[in-house]
Amino acid sequence: MISFIGAGPGDPELITIKGRKLIDQADVIIYAGSLVNPDVLSGHKEGAVIYNSALMDLDEVIKVMEEAEKEGKKVVRVHTGDPAIYGAHREQMDRLDELGITYEVVPGVSSAFATAAVLNAEYTMPGKSQTVIFTRMEGRTPMPPGEKLKDLASHHATMVIFLSIGFMDEMVKQLEEGGYEPTTPAAVVYKASWPDQRIVRGTLQDIAQKVSDAGIKKTALTVVGDFLGDDYELSKLYDRGFTTEFRRAKE
Ligand code: SAH
Repeated sequence: MISFIGAGPGDPELITIKGRKLIDQADVIIYAGSLVNPDVLSGHKEGAVIYNSALMDLDEVIKVMEEAEKEGKKVVRVHTGDPAIYGAHREQMDRLDELGITYEVVPGVSSAFATAAVLNAEYTMPGKSQTVIFTRMEGRTPMPPGEKLKDLASHHATMVIFLSIGFMDEMVKQLEEGGYEPTTPAAVVYKASWPDQRIVRGTLQDIAQKVSDAGIKKTALTVVGDFLGDDYELSKLYDRGFTTEFRRAKE
């Protein structure tokens, strides 16, 4: 049984207990070296064999898994954040299905949530946005029809934009074309939860310049939307005058 594990955003304490235990017991560890903090592997067994998947293609990753499985070794495949977001683990699972190798997925804290945490932000603000869009800019890999940033921006939902920090000017342009006001708040978090984390706050008008001034070029998320502002409605959930399943309204 191969375990796909979400390593979390960087802070080695932001991995699940289940994920950590599996890493500590593994004979073979394949980790996404471009983003996974090597400290999350620090408890590995003596003699565990460690591969950095940043240097491998899909066939090579599968070959390592297949051979280790044959030898009865425990393999863990460690992805950054949560594997379900731009993790490319589905193609690995499909190959394992073909080979008759079983697997499980252990979720992790996505950088999307680490970013909200460090901003002290709630993505779903009553009366402002009740929808969160995880997306990225069209770069070297194209976007499917209807999913260009401009199309998505028309919803005025909370947007969490991955993999796009190198295209800030174009990002802002498309968001504004899609209908966001230039005064819409935006924030960029570089390496959320790492010791060298940085936060840049602004509006669509100035965020690209601020990020460029800060010299941030990779490993950052951009979040955009009115959820970052101070104007919102209080929730019904904790509203004194609102009855819920657990609590009666008070006069
Ligand atoms: N599966 C990962 C995302 C992988 S895509 C997750 O759930 O977080 C890689 C992109 O994620 C990076 O380009 C960057 O936009 C973002 N990212 C990953 N870790 C980050 C972190 N600690 N802080 C900010 N952004 C991060």
